[in-house]
Amino acid sequence: MTLIALENVGFRYAEPWVLKNISCEIAHGDFVGILGPNGSGKSTLLKILDGMLAPEEGKVLIGGVALASIRRKELAKTVAVVTQDFRMTFPFSVQEVVLMGRSPHLSKWRFEGETDVQIARNAMTMTDTLHLAGRSMEELSGGERQRVLIARALAQEPKILLLDEPTAFLDIKHQMDFFDLVQSLNRRNHLTVVAVTHDINLASLYCDRLMLLKGGHLFVHGRPEDVLTEQNITDVYSVRVSVDCSPATGRPRISPLGAQVNEQKSR
Ligand code: ADP
Ligand code: MG
Repeated sequence: MTLIALENVGFRYAEPWVLKNISCEIAHGDFVGILGPNGSGKSTLLKILDGMLAPEEGKVLIGGVALASIRRKELAKTVAVVTQDFRMTFPFSVQEVVLMGRSPHLSKWRFEGETDVQIARNAMTMTDTLHLAGRSMEELSGGERQRVLIARALAQEPKILLLDEPTAFLDIKHQMDFFDLVQSLNRRNHLTVVAVTHDINLASLYCDRLMLLKGGHLFVHGRPEDVLTEQNITDVYSVRVSVDCSPATGRPRISPLGAQVNEQKSR
């Protein structure tokens, strides 16, 4: 069942077009990776899915409803976002940050009640952050902070989780822990996940489907084995890679060979 449909989406901040003719469907329960070089429009696309930016051309449908017609607070009950750069100037506690996730569900003058606290606690349990509840966000390690931000996103009780390079500053263990957590939420809670990442091999391992952007166009999308070909990677990133099937995971595996695309492959 299609949950998110993009129909000929085009967007520009000023000139030129940053996204053009983006059309694709994301099914309920999918784990989708968005790949592409710096500046190819990945973050802009996520901001459009989040309702922060409105497309100038085309439209986005969520559950068959035009995103443009959904008010932001309503949308926040369906879509939650975790990005890489979380800078808070106030020393909020972990519990306070997770409770902020409840705000789309609160009416104007109502503070969090017992139910909201319980939902926040459940979110912290799922992300293994309950023991951090009283700690200040400023004291946490990068991996802990990203788990707390997932907890805050879960407290929103969304159907769709958008991730923008959420593991950019994490080491390989914490990257994998993070993606394992997201994968379990995807599988067990049927959360639909759309994740921007630069790590092609992690995307290959965790994602059901990939979108590869180049210069604001959707160059190719589909299953990792169809998207992650040597030709596609070379065409989009201008680097030489070899792609094989990892014997350990059965997934496509990229090995960088160097930046010069015009050299002959030595095989
Ligand atoms: P990515 O996330 O793939 O690196 P972005 O979506 O951030 O790419 O950016 C796509 C293009 O839009 C880039 O050329 C970038 O410079 C431009 N851009 C991004 N944000 C803004 C903005 N707020 N104002 C003007 N141009 C922007
Ligand atoms: Mg970006």
